[in-house]
Parts: sequence; C-alpha cells; structure tokens
Amino acid sequence: MTNSPAYVFTPPPVVSVPVAGSTHRYAVHRVYCVGRNYEEHAKEMGFTGREPPFFFLKPADAIVAVDAGTVGTLPYPSLTKNFHHEIELVVAIGTGGKDIKAADAHAHIFGYAVGLDMTRRDLQGEMKKAGRPWCIGKGFDHSAPIGPITPTALAGDVNHADLFVQVNGTDRQRSNVAKLIWNVAETIEHLSAAWELMPGDLIYTGTPEGVAAVVTGDILVGSVAGLGELHIKVV
Ligand code: MN
Repeated sequence: MTNSPAYVFTPPPVVSVPVAGSTHRYAVHRVYCVGRNYEEHAKEMGFTGREPPFFFLKPADAIVAVDAGTVGTLPYPSLTKNFHHEIELVVAIGTGGKDIKAADAHAHIFGYAVGLDMTRRDLQGEMKKAGRPWCIGKGFDHSAPIGPITPTALAGDVNHADLFVQVNGTDRQRSNVAKLIWNVAETIEHLSAAWELMPGDLIYTGTPEGVAAVVTGDILVGSVAGLGELHIKVV
C-alpha cells in the first residue's frame, strides 16, 4: 500500500510529446534552448564570432505537442506586435547525466523532433536593451510547438539534415543542421556542465537566419529532414 500525499488542488497533468512509431509518449521534464547557434542568425541579431553557447529555458507547459498529420493551434500571444518563428532541431534526452563529454553525448539522446522557438521579439528586444531576463520574450504560454519525437535509430543523420519553415507556403528560413556553431554533442557537453540533464529534457538547438513575424491566420510548416513536418496555425 502506498500512501499518496493529499494536494491542496489537483496537480497539473504531465506534459508529453508523441513518439513516432509508438503508442508511448515522451514525458517532458524541462525545455532548454540555445541562443544564437547559427552564424547567419547571430549576424542578423547583431552579433559576430563564435562565443560560448548560452542557454535559456521555457516552462515545460509551454510545449504545444502536435501529432503527425494534424495541424496544431498556436494562440497569438498577448503584449506583442512582433511574434517571430524560429525553426529548430530539438534533441530529446533519454538518459540523464552531468558533465557529459561530447564524445559520449549520443548515448544520452532518446530522439529528435522539429520544434518552433516562438518569440515575442519586441519584448525580448526591450529586455535585452535593459539587461533584464528574456522570460517574457521567450518563456510565455504556448511558446514551444513541437512535432513527434523520432527515436535516434529511426532519425537518420540529423547532424546534416536540411531544415526549413514556410509561412503560408512561402520559405522563411532554410538551412542545414551542419551549420550549427555548437553541434548537438558539443551543446550537450556545455549544457550538462551547467545543469544535470534528466530524461524528459528537451533541447531547442537554435535557429538559422530568416526569423520573421507571423500574424493571426498564418499557417506554419516546419521541417527537419528525417523527422517529418510540424504544421501549426496561428489563431
Ligand atoms: Mn531559438
């Protein structure tokens, strides 16, 4: 007999993401994001050169999990007039650890997914300018759409995969994961030096150039080759 604790309110549901080819779901622990991890995007944001990777987080319940073959809905957020898409490869950690070396990183990865790091760019810009945290620009409700997680064995060579996002059928961002400044293994090395990674941790690895605004009614189609497509409508 287990004696389960009594709560003062019903605990929130477990946030989870579908797994391609499985009826099991991936339970989310944390959502880490890498900033400025493609050179051309760093330039368009006003930076140059290879600086050590830096990280920010989104709340786990900012995840909008979209099943394969369906169109997810993304509410246009409050307070912004400049709501940007950032197409990203997402890494799903399956085995935790700290101080993981890049050479050992692969063994910690459960799979990969297509994600959008949605950003209230105007608010992020104001916070940057004031030297304040980015939370309001990056960590708002529904800010992390994601498609199904493809297990590593089925994902192909994601480190050299083309990725793109189209808005209403027109290309906005198009690049290749090989252009990451800090690749997946190196990112895991840096991240796990700062936090102990846990199963359920998602890592949004950064976005290439071409970030731009969406408006209500827009249809976004994001893709990373080998991982399927993420379809979402701004409502
Ligand atoms: Mn991003």
